Amino acid sequence: MQNQMIFLIFFVIISPAFIFNIGAAEEHQTDYEALYKELMELEPDKNLVAKVQDFSFRRDAGVFDLKKGKLYLCKPINGRVVAALFEGKGRFRLTPPTEIERRQVRRFYEADSLDQEFKFLVLIFADSTLKEFQSHLNFSRQRVSHQLKKQIKNCLRYMGDEKGKNFEPEFIKTFLENATNSLFYAHFSKNSLKPMFFKINPYEVEEVRFMRRPKNDSVTYRREMISQFHQQSDYEKQSNLAHEDKKLIDVESYRIECWIENNSGVFASSNPNFRAKTEMIFRPITPPDKEWLFFYISPKLEVDSISWKSGTPVDFFKSKDNHLIWIRADSLQIDTTYQLNLSYHGEIIQRYDDYFMLDLSTFWYPRQSFHDKSQFDLYFHVPDIYKFTAAGHQDTAFVDNAAEDGYCVTRWRTYEPIRNASFSMGIFDKHVVENDTLPRVTVYMNKTRRAVRAKRVGEEIARSIDFFREVYGESRADEFFVMETPTLHGESFLGLTNLSGVTFIGDDPWGYDAIHRAHEAAHQWWGVGVDFLTYHDQWMSEGFADYSGLWYLEIVREDQKNFLKKLKDWRKLIVENRQYLLGDGVETGPIWLGYRTVSSETKEDYAVVIYKKGAWILHLLRCYLLDPADLNDDQFRTLMRDFYETYLHRQATTEDFQHFIEDYIHEDMDWFFQQWVYASDIPTYKFAYKQKKTAEGKYLIRFRSFQENAPGFRSSILVTAKMIHNDYQRQRIWITDGLNEFELPLLDSPPEEIIFGDFESALADIKKVDWDELSP
Ligand SMILES: [Zn+2]
Repeated sequence: MQNQMIFLIFFVIISPAFIFNIGAAEEHQTDYEALYKELMELEPDKNLVAKVQDFSFRRDAGVFDLKKGKLYLCKPINGRVVAALFEGKGRFRLTPPTEIERRQVRRFYEADSLDQEFKFLVLIFADSTLKEFQSHLNFSRQRVSHQLKKQIKNCLRYMGDEKGKNFEPEFIKTFLENATNSLFYAHFSKNSLKPMFFKINPYEVEEVRFMRRPKNDSVTYRREMISQFHQQSDYEKQSNLAHEDKKLIDVESYRIECWIENNSGVFASSNPNFRAKTEMIFRPITPPDKEWLFFYISPKLEVDSISWKSGTPVDFFKSKDNHLIWIRADSLQIDTTYQLNLSYHGEIIQRYDDYFMLDLSTFWYPRQSFHDKSQFDLYFHVPDIYKFTAAGHQDTAFVDNAAEDGYCVTRWRTYEPIRNASFSMGIFDKHVVENDTLPRVTVYMNKTRRAVRAKRVGEEIARSIDFFREVYGESRADEFFVMETPTLHGESFLGLTNLSGVTFIGDDPWGYDAIHRAHEAAHQWWGVGVDFLTYHDQWMSEGFADYSGLWYLEIVREDQKNFLKKLKDWRKLIVENRQYLLGDGVETGPIWLGYRTVSSETKEDYAVVIYKKGAWILHLLRCYLLDPADLNDDQFRTLMRDFYETYLHRQATTEDFQHFIEDYIHEDMDWFFQQWVYASDIPTYKFAYKQKKTAEGKYLIRFRSFQENAPGFRSSILVTAKMIHNDYQRQRIWITDGLNEFELPLLDSPPEEIIFGDFESALADIKKVDWDELSP
């Protein structure tokens, strides 16, 4: 499910929003268009200019010091002054409220606090800013320079764009509703080339964010997030912040009927038409008297009509190239259910010969957010020459009475809410893999491939499903479909796995194919079965799926050599990714930051940190819980199984996982999570050992280790003496800061080999050195 990342980034970088009324027969300016136009034409009011000296104001963790200059209020938007700008000498200071976010500032600015001078400051707000300015400053008429107008234009380029008339939804919503809330936005710079941004968005769970222009990007108007956190009052309340929910409505269910039509005939290479009629049932959570709702949807889709269940048409706004539908929904009652009926169409499926790809796998229906779960009842009318599969449970009893010639209609449902619905199709051959012992898997594969390929892929998926059933428990899917795709990555939904065509070509001897396939199969447990709550917790889907892939390789394929080799390779990636150790570049971020570990200066971070280090965390936990004598991992297995069963159908957080482990093993595991999940240090271990024959004829092995580069870290690792006849004498030892000394229990004969960090039990940069190098 790598698509999740794309959507999260999509959400951050591209400022979504806006509208125009394609429902209206004649051209007239809607409320939206009027607001969009006003916002994009924002300009200072020459009658409202104030001299400023030593004036400070604070917005949450950000402090603005206006040392000396002029402050201009802007002309009203929707009848209200919501913007101002400052030119002169100013400073912005920010100290994030949490250690992890202070470290994030340190990562990019080499200090826990940001202290930045600026010459220009543009503010857009719906909070008390205007009142504050009015009560402290005296406004009069003065000349407004051209340079100032340019600063506002520059600021707006990051927030809206003409193509699709996009503008950030929180501003549209707030100003259309004429609401007073904590919305506050600052764009400031010393020169216009490298602006910084500070924002408080009341509609976001983590309301406060600090952003900058990405490094080495001089073409686009994008912002990259440096720090994001909750507003101060949330920390004061000390409620369960990980589970804070700000959604405006709860979309309970969708009934969607889709038509996928290939107008130009069977062999045409043109993209098929897609049409859908969607009934969306939702329940308002916040009590609104005037409410604008917005839903994310593919920018390529055009909406034909929207009405209430009664048939009453709805005022809506959706332009092409915009990924939001805006809906005016006055006087909604809290905890009452409503039904919206939407019709829309567009070219959202790309055809590549016999393959078909959805542009955005889960944005073919309107969604309130990326994390909400809903029930689905899906009907697809598809040309019968296409092989087709959707997420959910196929209703095999569904009898299609209304099928047109040459079309096949199928029905797919959910029994419990799911996060992502999708579908997949192609001009494929169908292969069913089944035998007495393995679950049945249906594989749809390109017709040009030999059937044996489908059998191998299908059997591997079946064997992994069988293994994950054994170690984690029953999956949510009762049938498993595998679809070949022309991409390089896989993607999984309830019962449906899209696998890269590459894995249908051959099997590699190193286990890449096995891990890739088993990773996608494992998403039926991690991602679909137990969902993750926010971007902080995404490693519990991708990292868990990657470790499941490794585990499958080790146990089912009985390939311990490649299992250990992969762990070693991934450790190398993790160690090398911490570039700052080598003295250049920005250090990597911790797992808990999710997609935010990625920046314009640390582009590889997501794959390494969330997938590979995420997998390593599970491995470290398994090593911590296993019995050193025989590597028995029953405790780890039952822990994972119980965790899965406890959180099945729910969205789990990193904190949930930590607490679950702590309750399970009756031990405080904060040290483990702090060092591996919330921090990004990787220790370096230097080790040496000495062997001595005792007077009694036994063998004494003495160890020294020295830990550096990860202050306060401690790790339990396995140290093993490999004896003759493959007899292993394993010992669990603790490594902490600085010099550690320990001895293995006396051995009867000299060991063949001494293994430090056996079973790849150490996530560290390990170097063997001479004994004398580690003298106390
Ligand atoms: Zn995945």
